[in-house]
Amino acid sequence: MVDKKTEFSDGILIAFDIDDVIARLGPSLFRWNNKLYGNAGTQNKGKALLKDHKTYALHKTWSCSEQEALRRVLEFYQTDFFKNLPPVPGAIECVYAVKNILKKYYDDPCLPYITSRPTSTDVINQNWFDKYTPGVDFKIHYSDHYFSDGPKAAAQTGKINKSKGILCKKINAAIIVDDCLEYCLDCSEHGIFSMLFDLNGSYGHNKLRNLPEGMKKLPENIVRVKNHKEVFAKYSAYVQMISKY
Ligand SMILES: [Mg+2]
Repeated sequence: MVDKKTEFSDGILIAFDIDDVIARLGPSLFRWNNKLYGNAGTQNKGKALLKDHKTYALHKTWSCSEQEALRRVLEFYQTDFFKNLPPVPGAIECVYAVKNILKKYYDDPCLPYITSRPTSTDVINQNWFDKYTPGVDFKIHYSDHYFSDGPKAAAQTGKINKSKGILCKKINAAIIVDDCLEYCLDCSEHGIFSMLFDLNGSYGHNKLRNLPEGMKKLPENIVRVKNHKEVFAKYSAYVQMISKY
């Protein structure tokens, strides 16, 4: 991106996580899992319910091994359920509004997305954004935290797991919006201002009970946001504030 006002642009780039921030993954993933596998437990007639999903670890909610949960998620990525995820309410409007702010500071704004989806999903991801955000230039950065091509890529490059915090620093993003508490904590440690996305307060997996032992509240540079109106309000206020300096 070419800076129009280099003194400001460095500090205003915002990055978005994709799943359950921009694209609504949870309900489709659980619907698909219940169709094929359900829950090995006896509760809820063998169904795994999204409302029971209280940590980021799917295997706990699905009552299966961690390896099996990863295998299922990789299988899910090959389905039409995944290809046809709906946007999170308000997400698309927010993306266009953010692009309009970035246009003031960059000649050719390019919105970064940072995702733990594996790189093998790239074509589907590109098509999804082309469909829902035509006219918005974007780049998808893959953190490959969990999935099979992560370890493979790690074996080839000698690097293990890309932290979202490090990725933000690398691409000069000062802010991230992510629904994963652990990723927000990682970004926070790297000095990235993080908005913990919790759609209408419904995301059981990112509540404070999942904070590391000894931590009682969110660090100062993480704020919980419940919808995209809040994301945009906080972002535009932040840009206004730093552009005064
Ligand atoms: Mg997410």
